[in-house]
Amino acid sequence: MDPQATWHALLSAWTEGDWQEVFDLAEALLDWLAKGGFPPEANAGRRMGADWNRAVAIAACEFSLGRAGEVLSDPQGIPRSVPFSLTCASCNNEGPSSLETAVAAGWKGVIYTPAGLSESFLGHCPDCQKREPDSGSAE
Ligand SMILES: [Zn+2]
Repeated sequence: MDPQATWHALLSAWTEGDWQEVFDLAEALLDWLAKGGFPPEANAGRRMGADWNRAVAIAACEFSLGRAGEVLSDPQGIPRSVPFSLTCASCNNEGPSSLETAVAAGWKGVIYTPAGLSESFLGHCPDCQKREPDSGSAE
């Protein structure tokens, strides 16, 4: 295994929301590290040393494995331990504070998007669905 390539692939899978890939890569890297394999450089642009990189990689992989497992095991792909904050992907309207309330209000296509946003979930609000009837058709 190339742990550096695996680490970068794990980060990409996380930002892309490819939860099966996150799960598989985190599991593979944890297995590699458990067998004494050298850790990836976990911080781009700064040398922190093997001990620090190992600790960060293990913590990140265990976190990723747990979160991806939660997403994959939920029928709607919603990790229930994550505080629910919803924004419309089209108009940035803020959504209700629970998935059930959002669905009842007509929100569609709610997905978990943890990377790079202040909100953890994106969806399509009822107003935008009226304006753009083809958006949010995949619930
Ligand atoms: Zn909207």
